[in-house]
Amino acid sequence: MNKIAFLLLSIFSFQINAQLITPDVIKTKDGNITIQPITHGTLVLTYNNKTIYVDPYGGAEKFKGLSKPDFILITDIHGDHLNLETLKGIDTKGAIFIVPQAVADKLPSQYKKQVEVLNNRQGIHRLGLFISAVAMYNLPETEDSRHTKGRGNGYIINFDDTRVYISGDTSGIQEMRQLYDIDIAFVCMNLPYTMDVEEASSAILDFKPAIVYPYHYRGKNGLSDIEKFKTIVDTESLTIDVRLRDWYLK
Ligand code: ZN
Repeated sequence: MNKIAFLLLSIFSFQINAQLITPDVIKTKDGNITIQPITHGTLVLTYNNKTIYVDPYGGAEKFKGLSKPDFILITDIHGDHLNLETLKGIDTKGAIFIVPQAVADKLPSQYKKQVEVLNNRQGIHRLGLFISAVAMYNLPETEDSRHTKGRGNGYIINFDDTRVYISGDTSGIQEMRQLYDIDIAFVCMNLPYTMDVEEASSAILDFKPAIVYPYHYRGKNGLSDIEKFKTIVDTESLTIDVRLRDWYLK
């Protein structure tokens, strides 16, 4: 191989490696869930040939090589969750958008026919999955908070016997602390937008998911101390598996 070809190949493979964080595969009763972190609050879940994009953001190139979405779940109206630029570059044909009303109001008309509005405490069966919306909001509850109660959705997705919780942008609210039978949780922790690692660990220790991924942890002053989150949870619980991944891989 000549030098230039080698160089090109190295750049190419570097780009492939740099593109995606290594996914995890979780066995369920009837299949496998593949968990592909993308960045920040964005992830892709695949189960029995169904692909779910959660809050697609970061540019369409971040999704290169992944199957096109059957579902697009959007939690809230902010640009790191509802990102029209990223949506535009994704093949959304045939995808079901599951969004709260506030997001539906902001989606361009081209997507309207694909939208299913779910508000807090509503659920829907589609393509063999049950998806329900749960509350996400900031504490203290004020009218001018970044995330007011009732506007955005966290989600719980039931894949046969396995329940996956996606927190969205929230404080450690009662509705989260009272969750039960959660197998896999994605929980935000960044100030001043959501909560600090202490509050997040306290909420996690209340509802005790089997596995938790800190996600959405880039705050105003850089990345939150997710190692500290893991230490607190590991010290207090022998059962919760805290999985740290590099969600901000360049
Ligand atoms: Zn956010």
